[in-house]
Amino acid sequence: MNHEIQYKTPKTLLNKGTGYLNGYSHSLNPYTGCTYGCSYCYVRQMPVSLFRTEEWGTWVDVKQKAAAILRKELEKATSIGPVSIFMSSSTDPYQPIEHKEQVTRALLEVMVETPPDFLFVQTRSPLVRRDIDLLLRLEDKVRVSMTVETDREDIRKKFTPSAPPISARFKTLQLLREAGIPVQATIAPVLPSSTSFPEILRGLVDRVCIDDYFMGDGSGGKRTRRLGIYSLYEELQLEDWYDPAAYHRVYDGLRSVFSEDELFLSQKGFEP
Ligand code: SF4
Repeated sequence: MNHEIQYKTPKTLLNKGTGYLNGYSHSLNPYTGCTYGCSYCYVRQMPVSLFRTEEWGTWVDVKQKAAAILRKELEKATSIGPVSIFMSSSTDPYQPIEHKEQVTRALLEVMVETPPDFLFVQTRSPLVRRDIDLLLRLEDKVRVSMTVETDREDIRKKFTPSAPPISARFKTLQLLREAGIPVQATIAPVLPSSTSFPEILRGLVDRVCIDDYFMGDGSGGKRTRRLGIYSLYEELQLEDWYDPAAYHRVYDGLRSVFSEDELFLSQKGFEP
């Protein structure tokens, strides 16, 4: 698919951490828009998407001069008080175009120079491997959270056809962990998965976050319902997975191989 790419210089980069992210002082989005365009992404219903005529998932704006802007903001913020950053809340910081543009990498370089108290990196892209050298320099002040909503590639293709394959994400978790970077597997939103999923994760991580539309979309599932993805479940005859209790199927399986303190439900799994 051809994506529309624009280059824009933002006024600011750090936004106040609010709502779901109220445990953070700031959120940081290196891009505006997201070319993964996941079917269940409710950012498509937020102003950032509604003000655009192009469909969510088809466009991305690259933030220019991002490192210089962040350097200034971060120096100021760290001089005032504790700084904890969630990257990213309304895009994935490892867009396919990040291979070329390296905006996120440049931001990490700034954060190595002026470290925040904590940085949470939320992604579904294996490209995060490229930045292992910088992430290591943040030591225990960073956690990389890799979205793995399911272990089933057929389900991944159905719900998020433009996102990276699940096997590459598993491999990335393994590599990050072997390098010594704090990692988390994030099953969010819970999608239909196989019974081997907990065992696979057991071999990869010591920390799992689990979230679904009903706990995690900020509206008890209403925002997600408006996206109309229930029809995908119907098409797959997997309607029983679209249910506030369905996460137990995964959680209970995880509990047989993980201890309770290694498992985090909904917002808890995204806190600093
Ligand atoms: S990667 Fe995240 S921000 Fe991008 S479309 Fe998917 S859910 Fe939305």
